[in-house]
Amino acid sequence: MTIYDLVITNGRILDGSGNPWFRGDLAVQQGRIIEIAPVGTRQGRQTIDVADRFVAPGFIDIHTHSDLSILVNRRAESAVRQGVTTQLIGNCGMSPAPLEEAYISEMRRQWGPISEQPEVTWEWHSFKQYLDTLQDGGLGINIASLAGHGALRIAAMGLDERAPTSSELKWMKELVDEAMQAGAFGMSTGLVYPPGCYATTDEIIAVCQVVSRYHGMYASHIRGERETILEAVSEAIRIGREAGVPVQISHNAPKFGAPCDASANLRLVEDARSMGQDVTVDNDVHTDLAPALVDGLPQEIQDLPANQIANMLQDPERRRMIRNEIVEDRKPAFGPVGLLKHNQWHRITMLHAPKSLNVIGKTIQAVADERGSDPFDTYFDLIVENGHEAEAIFDYIDETNIRLLLQHPAVMISSDGQVLAPYGFLNDPIPYQPCSYGEYPGVLERYVRNEPLLSLQEAIRKMTSFPAQRLGLRDRGVLREGAWADIVVFDLERLHDRATNLYPHTYPFENYPHQYPEGIDYVFVNGVMVVGGEGHTGALPGCVLRHQSKY
Ligand SMILES: [Zn+2]
Repeated sequence: MTIYDLVITNGRILDGSGNPWFRGDLAVQQGRIIEIAPVGTRQGRQTIDVADRFVAPGFIDIHTHSDLSILVNRRAESAVRQGVTTQLIGNCGMSPAPLEEAYISEMRRQWGPISEQPEVTWEWHSFKQYLDTLQDGGLGINIASLAGHGALRIAAMGLDERAPTSSELKWMKELVDEAMQAGAFGMSTGLVYPPGCYATTDEIIAVCQVVSRYHGMYASHIRGERETILEAVSEAIRIGREAGVPVQISHNAPKFGAPCDASANLRLVEDARSMGQDVTVDNDVHTDLAPALVDGLPQEIQDLPANQIANMLQDPERRRMIRNEIVEDRKPAFGPVGLLKHNQWHRITMLHAPKSLNVIGKTIQAVADERGSDPFDTYFDLIVENGHEAEAIFDYIDETNIRLLLQHPAVMISSDGQVLAPYGFLNDPIPYQPCSYGEYPGVLERYVRNEPLLSLQEAIRKMTSFPAQRLGLRDRGVLREGAWADIVVFDLERLHDRATNLYPHTYPFENYPHQYPEGIDYVFVNGVMVVGGEGHTGALPGCVLRHQSKY
């Protein structure tokens, strides 16, 4: 009888296809699933009896921002502990490559303080060199990457607020061609962030035509997820149609200020699909985000040094103009700004403010009431007092929309988070990113077990085979003979997300600092145990996945 490398025995297998579980053993050899067999019939050098727990494909997180944090924490702690075995990076228009020598400082500014970490060497230039850098140091999970349109644009023309010249556009197309050849899965845009917000639809179509030649996809943080959400979804669909690329609409929950609920944007997706266009959607299930307060300022000033921003905000005339610009929102700003525009100060809860410690845990409305000042002025004052270090939790998504998206067959689950760890640089200061620690266990705990909004097999499909299909990964996201052994074993009864904090927040915040979830008992990546027993095993069996243009 063959002795396999690994046998996972006595499990309830959810194969990722959306079918209900069945009992069986998985036999793994050289990183792949070799056999799925009746319980107790196969032998391994290592045999793990999972005692009737669920065995599923490792989760594939199709929307993350781990591009630099995975360099700082190659173990991929917060991701793999929640059962994620593959992440897609390069989202929302930003990837660390290609990198042009002349614009390194712009790129560093875009990525913030993590840019200065010793592991982030900025020694790559081409997309291929960046992917090689990822692979060379070892990875706890598999990583697939998109080329960010913002990075291409910065490499070709810096952060200029104008259209590219014809030679700059040609350069962007050459750079995306090189990225696709190196194995990028497509291109992303972030059309509310600089420099994506300066790009016209036609510019994006022109660059996507190159992506189309390689059968890559177009993923977009659309041009406004609030007042302009329907126009913005339509633009993404048009780009896909005219460039001939499948479209992934990223984290598509309508944010506060949208004129409609999620059924309206989903209807546009359904209409496009019924016309024969391949459009899909992903979404995260948290109602909040915790950006720096400066991120709510108009795009062109938010990256300035803190003292310059403080000077502007201390000039009453400039302050008035900035306030008008935020409220007018002519170049749609990112989602949380809807709370500023619509005076929702009770939905903004202070998280970090090293120079104004007594405001932490209070809403900006409450701070304004205490100080006897206007809440918009209080928002500006907190920036003047604390610079880029002022951060708040913005509750800007209605959970009704999260439910509508979760139940729609064309919507997959993503975190919109990044690899974090409760130690080292990635925990200093302690970030508020429940999605980075608890997205997948949270969905299973809250929306499958506690309130059966989704069946278990449907939730697993949205976490595994569906994102794999979107990426063209034919041998991941399913438990099948021949597939790579990316596997998660979990106990649905014990599953508990210890990172999510529900609105309205009370201070001290529950589940913050975040902890790893309970009930994710084993995680295997390419057949190697990364989580099991005492936690992370330290193994780094992950691969950089490279897009195959024929699948
Ligand atoms: Zn985004």
